[in-house]
Amino acid sequence: MSDRYCIRGCVVRDEHYAACARRRPDYTGQFPCTGCVAVEARDGVLLCERCFRRLRRHLEDAADIVGHLRSIADPTKAAVFDRIRVQSSAIEIPAPVAADLIDASNDITTTLNMWANHVAGEDRPGAGLPAGAMADAAHAVVQLAVDVILDELGRLANDFDQVGALCEGVMVVHKDAPDVWTVADAAVRWPLEDAPRWAQAACPKCDLMSVRVQPGSNGRPSRYRCTTEGCDWEANSKDDGGLWASVFADPTPAEVRPHDPRWLTLADAARLVERTTGTVRGWVTQNLLAPQLGRYWQDDVLAVAAQKRGEAA
Ligand SMILES: [Zn+2]
Ligand SMILES: [Zn+2]
Ligand SMILES: [Zn+2]
Repeated sequence: MSDRYCIRGCVVRDEHYAACARRRPDYTGQFPCTGCVAVEARDGVLLCERCFRRLRRHLEDAADIVGHLRSIADPTKAAVFDRIRVQSSAIEIPAPVAADLIDASNDITTTLNMWANHVAGEDRPGAGLPAGAMADAAHAVVQLAVDVILDELGRLANDFDQVGALCEGVMVVHKDAPDVWTVADAAVRWPLEDAPRWAQAACPKCDLMSVRVQPGSNGRPSRYRCTTEGCDWEANSKDDGGLWASVFADPTPAEVRPHDPRWLTLADAARLVERTTGTVRGWVTQNLLAPQLGRYWQDDVLAVAAQKRGEAA
């Protein structure tokens, strides 16, 4: 048991501390408390489970979203833009305009590159997208940054000085046109067109048949999100030892990918050749290395490292 609470101030709905003076029905004033008991943090981090999972989901989606924004910003694909519906749920959001697509994709890229630099120990501003960046190029740039951040997400989310800023930059949804766009801002305004289905099992939190299943793609795990208002439970097929994948019996085994240990994560690749993750990322930028689904082929990594050593000698 931890006695740490979610740093974002999450509270349990309708649960109150004994000292709460604004609880219904005793309190009849204008500002009743809707719940004041703090939500405990997930083990090892400063966020509650829900905030952590949401942050992770937005990071995992970032590359697809930026690619999506770039593809609908492309005038040759203007027809697609007409079909994109703005999905405003609880909050009133002004309809975005075309210039927002450019701003949003650039802001998200800048923010994520900045965090990737930071994780790699280089505190400098993040690069944005070149003006005419095509969707797949933009996707690749963002995925590269996201891989670095996700590798260190546990550590970042346990760092008092950083976790707030990371959440702020990634998962906050602004009500008006944002000064700086977050992944969540873009996801609300230009939702990715996926085909979720209703789960055949109840939500573990609210017990209602209200969980949507979104099949995994691009190496991402499948996701389960409750749509009950005020519940917002979510998990992916890897959480809790893969429990939810069996509960919600995913008909499409999305992550069947023969595990070959020679496909390395960015962090493992860097460790193998005793370089920083930033250096290995640099090799990708220089087209010396081509990761697949965020994995690096061991022999390629070794070859580039050898080549670089040769150059330096
Ligand atoms: Zn209360
Ligand atoms: Zn929270
Ligand atoms: Zn629920």
